[in-house]
Amino acid sequence: MINEIKLGQCPETNFALLEAFALNSAMSLFKTCALESVYDSFHPALKENPSLNKMNTAISMAFHLSEAILDGVFNQPTPHYAMHYNRVNSLLDDVALKITAIIQNGGFEAMPIPASQIIDKSSQKGYLNHKIVARAAGVGFIGRNNLLVTRQFGARVRLVTVLTSAPLKLCAPVEGGCGGCYECVSACPAGAIGETAEAFELAKCVEQISKFQRLMFVAKGICGVCLRACSKKELNTKIKED
Ligand code: SF4
Ligand code: SF4
Repeated sequence: MINEIKLGQCPETNFALLEAFALNSAMSLFKTCALESVYDSFHPALKENPSLNKMNTAISMAFHLSEAILDGVFNQPTPHYAMHYNRVNSLLDDVALKITAIIQNGGFEAMPIPASQIIDKSSQKGYLNHKIVARAAGVGFIGRNNLLVTRQFGARVRLVTVLTSAPLKLCAPVEGGCGGCYECVSACPAGAIGETAEAFELAKCVEQISKFQRLMFVAKGICGVCLRACSKKELNTKIKED
């Protein structure tokens, strides 16, 4: 299947081929943006890689998390969600690798960025912020919970990015915001979520996640409470009322 997908010089055809592959590989959304529109947000360690100079496009893919598993997250993360989180990250990385193979087979450059890898412990940052790429590519907007919020699935998604030199049609950012929805504000056990994404208090969130990590039998620092709050149902209901 991978070897049968032939990329060429047409941005629209390449986009259609990669999007079809991604959606057939269980991805829920496939979008692109110009790399220069998100370059400034990259970690210096990524900017040091000379291959970056060859890239012109960022691909953003989202996986729609299990609604049923998130519905079981009430005031704290569950082992079920923790396992799901890890498996989804693996799937995102697998699909990003396959997309990389298709692009490279076509004679272009591709650089997958892992879905969940911290390279800078003090700032908790990775090579790039998948949310920033996803917002520029039109996957969604940044919500009050400081997460990427999609029209289709609320914040119940996880993201991965592939940087590439392949000619690809570019997508436009989506307009939108939380409107009259405040579901995650009241749900957050740390009081970290404010009126706007800019008012989000990261330190409170990180402290709460550390507490969960100590108290619960989840190995990775996760929470999930504001993901549970940000479902498509809440988004549709509250924003339409606004
Ligand atoms: S991840 Fe948890 S602690 Fe952090 S903002 Fe969301 S609900 Fe609050
Ligand atoms: S739950 Fe509501 S307020 Fe919070 S991020 Fe989602 S849409 Fe925005």
